[in-house]
Amino acid sequence: MIRKGMKLYSILFGVCPKCHQESMYQNKNPYVLSEVIKMKESCSHCQTKYQIEPSFFYGSMYVSYAVGIAFAVAAFIVSYNILGSSLTVAFIAIVATLIGFMPVIMRLSRNIWINLFMSYDKELAKKSGVKSAKQ
Ligand SMILES: [Zn+2]
Repeated sequence: MIRKGMKLYSILFGVCPKCHQESMYQNKNPYVLSEVIKMKESCSHCQTKYQIEPSFFYGSMYVSYAVGIAFAVAAFIVSYNILGSSLTVAFIAIVATLIGFMPVIMRLSRNIWINLFMSYDKELAKKSGVKSAKQ
């Protein structure tokens, strides 16, 4: 089960890495392509600044390389091993997967990247949870 408080929760849903209370992105849907990487400046619940330093998220490109390979391997296994397609079709499937999931891959790698530097903070989440309940 994936729930708040787990790193995986923040990574999969793109929520604030410290309090897990709200999305880091201005638009939750990654397929609104003009807003794929538009992030809020900070969390409105716990005031965590997402951009730790200027061009902080350039580092996520290293992560996106690994995430991209993971998607490519998955696409290959599904098409070649499970569906029994030819190598050519498997290659096309990989390219199609990488293009189709590009927004997801970009966001996943940003989420993983920021979660390498920040961790869930129970106290912050509790405090902000009380605050948001009052509003
Ligand atoms: Zn927060």
